[in-house]
Amino acid sequence: MKQYSEKEIWEMLVSVPDPEIPALSVLDLGIVREVVLTGEQTLIKITPTYSGCPAMKEIEENILKELQAQGIDNAVVETILSPPWTTDWMTEEGKEKLRKFGIAPPEGSSADKSVLFGEAKKVTCPYCQSRNTQMVSQFGSTACKSLYKCEDCLEPFDYFKCL
Ligand SMILES: [Zn+2]
Repeated sequence: MKQYSEKEIWEMLVSVPDPEIPALSVLDLGIVREVVLTGEQTLIKITPTYSGCPAMKEIEENILKELQAQGIDNAVVETILSPPWTTDWMTEEGKEKLRKFGIAPPEGSSADKSVLFGEAKKVTCPYCQSRNTQMVSQFGSTACKSLYKCEDCLEPFDYFKCL
């Protein structure tokens, strides 16, 4: 088996998509915490975006599949639950990709917990950049997102909740 460097492993992970939002890689989301090469193992430590997100198992499988395709057969994915994932870990590039995908990226930082208290946040429409938007439902296509509607272009869109 060819020996890869940590950097090479990180570069491979760029092509592992998020199952829910295939436009984003697991690196865009900031899910991958650490790559550890022990010689015997290629250990990938990941932190789930939202505990209980059914996509997690799929992310693990996607990572293993990608590494296997590169000839790495000793990869192990370890899930780290603490500290919990926050939207702060998402890269700027990832947020931009979300917007292009028609999902409003998280605004502000995880310190803003207004959504947890049921207050509707003012969110920018990913289509026309209008701030004139309304929350339609706390839950969008998945529990990780809220459903919003733009009052200007009338497009409904998902907002990636800040956690
Ligand atoms: Zn709009």
